[in-house]
Amino acid sequence: MTVTGKVGLENLGNVLPHEHVTTDFLGAEIAPQPRYPRHMAITSILPYLKKLKERGYGLFFECTPNYIGRDVELLKALSELSGLKIVTNTGYYAAVNKKFLPKHAYTESSEALAKRWEQEWRKGIGDTGIRPGFIKLGVGKGPLDTIEEKLLQAAIILHKKSGLQMAMHTGDGEAALSQYQIIAAAGVDGKNMIWVHAQNGKDDERLALAQKGVWISLDGVSSEKLDSYVNMIRVLRENQLLSQLMISHDNGWGVEDEKGVIKLVPFDKGKNVPYQTIYNLLLPRLQQLGFTQAEIELITIKNPLKAYSLTP
Ligand SMILES: [Zn+2]
Repeated sequence: MTVTGKVGLENLGNVLPHEHVTTDFLGAEIAPQPRYPRHMAITSILPYLKKLKERGYGLFFECTPNYIGRDVELLKALSELSGLKIVTNTGYYAAVNKKFLPKHAYTESSEALAKRWEQEWRKGIGDTGIRPGFIKLGVGKGPLDTIEEKLLQAAIILHKKSGLQMAMHTGDGEAALSQYQIIAAAGVDGKNMIWVHAQNGKDDERLALAQKGVWISLDGVSSEKLDSYVNMIRVLRENQLLSQLMISHDNGWGVEDEKGVIKLVPFDKGKNVPYQTIYNLLLPRLQQLGFTQAEIELITIKNPLKAYSLTP
């Protein structure tokens, strides 16, 4: 389910499973959103999406949740102008001291929260008619606290009703394991969980959850950290678990107020050109190390499509 409607899984091209367009780190329910004029965001970001399209990318998962800058109308405009299919999400982000949770996340039950998200899935987000294609949560380091667990229960309720996959920004391996234990106790298979930022865990933690079918999303690929990503990928390959791996940059633009002027600033202050490090540096390195074309296609196309496709 993309921001421009449902698509089949054939001939979509390369996939980026975890990126952002704009993210506003101000905090939930502080200022009306978005704080930037959309034409400004389009001018800044469109060239990078067009570049992806030229390089054979076709599908882009935008992982910014509601209350931290999700802007689905911007995503739709960028998708139409670039030709890149973009998927948005429903769900809430509880990491970073709950700064991005609306007040009702504290008072409502998991059933009530699931209802709100289900409304987005069935009727669209606000009055845009744009529907989410997955559930996105964010939790800090393990073990999960009460609110994090309640949000996960809400995600499980909606997953069971809709088939939307659950992608969880996760602080460490302990938190990932407790998420897996909670979904397993609810009768949900590991293959319905995407461990976002699995680079925050350790090799043995990634291997243990990959063996349970959980998707391992290594998504902060950058030039400075290239070697550590290569090593994590090699360990999965040596253990015959490339079938569970996805890679992404987690790039995007933050909304910043510089003395009353709103600006869009790339996440790592422009050290890496947004969305290009995998194509420019990581894939050539994997090829040098003897990764086959089939293995690269598995990581960059087949796995993310399988991980995020709607389950019946
Ligand atoms: Zn992210």
